[in-house]
Amino acid sequence: MTLDISIVPSANPRTAAQVAEILADPGFGTYFTDHMFTVEWTPEKGWHDARITAYGPLTLDPATAVLHYAQETFEGMKAYRHEDGSVWTFRPDQNAERMKRSSHRLALPVLEPEDFVQAVDALVAVDQRWVPEAGSEKSLYIRPFMIATEAFLGVRPSQHVTFMVIASPAGAYFKGGIKPLTLWLTEEYTRAGRGGMGAAKTGGNYASSLVAQQEATAQGCDQVVFLDGAEGKYVEELGGMNMYFVFADGRIVTPATGTILEGITRSAIIELAHQSGHKVEERLFSIDEWREGVASGEITEVFACGTAAVVTPVGTLKWEGGEVQGSTETGPLTQQIRQSLIDIQYGRSADEFHWMHRV
Ligand code: PMP
Repeated sequence: MTLDISIVPSANPRTAAQVAEILADPGFGTYFTDHMFTVEWTPEKGWHDARITAYGPLTLDPATAVLHYAQETFEGMKAYRHEDGSVWTFRPDQNAERMKRSSHRLALPVLEPEDFVQAVDALVAVDQRWVPEAGSEKSLYIRPFMIATEAFLGVRPSQHVTFMVIASPAGAYFKGGIKPLTLWLTEEYTRAGRGGMGAAKTGGNYASSLVAQQEATAQGCDQVVFLDGAEGKYVEELGGMNMYFVFADGRIVTPATGTILEGITRSAIIELAHQSGHKVEERLFSIDEWREGVASGEITEVFACGTAAVVTPVGTLKWEGGEVQGSTETGPLTQQIRQSLIDIQYGRSADEFHWMHRV
């Protein structure tokens, strides 16, 4: 706890009735809590001027570096309310460590993980009435982000950086509820190359995914699957989720290529799967292995995972000129892993892995 955080409460917080109305149907990423956390960085002063203030627009010089060169990183995590009213985050240290790695790649300064966690805790504590009630399977989505705020058009690391945390109550990520996704395999676009930013959580990766996602939507699919940039042969991930493949013999494979975003949900699932006696292989996984495995019945379940959607079954995979149909229902292991994870997150089962952090 090294940040000295000043708190200036909002003069116009939402009323209890307004919060209740929003929490009844929060959607995803639409409503924001009453406050935001901000801290500034300069080479001379390091991190300074940490504060929680009313949520509101930023005033930025049009020359602000992030607007031009996208020097920025972000994180996504959630706070959950337990039955006794307490509020918890899931592995916040892992988000903090990932932001440290992402920021290193983007030539942004290091925010120490304990400061990251302190900032998130402070905002969630101030806005805790925005954490939906226990038993609802809703949560408070938390978005920490770091942006280059120096007003300078030269291409070099910004000499002024701002780290902020905002929060948004979240309901179901996919509007239709949990039903198997139809995925579109893009053979034209990739999201990462060797030495690039694929393993970093930075806005540019998402900007570059949008046109592929548009293609997926135009093809009647829910999400896009990216292959590796070098050979166009190995499965990487979706625009915002990692992938898992379950084999009939109990093996589980999750792609590892060095250029995917290593999800915190993905790594939790590896441990949960081990615990339930499954062998997990993190390795190169080719698109042919996917197509052939599903067609032959050797692959029995495919699912995607991430903070926003937790664990979501995958049904059909389509590509230009073909498709392979998987299950139309949520597979048993997909269901079991999903349940184990949310039971831990909502405090309904023992936190054996010490993943939960009390705010
Ligand atoms: N891949 C990408 C590209 C993502 O944006 C996300 C969401 N952060 C994930 C995977 C899943 O990561 P996590 O489980 O940490 O949410």
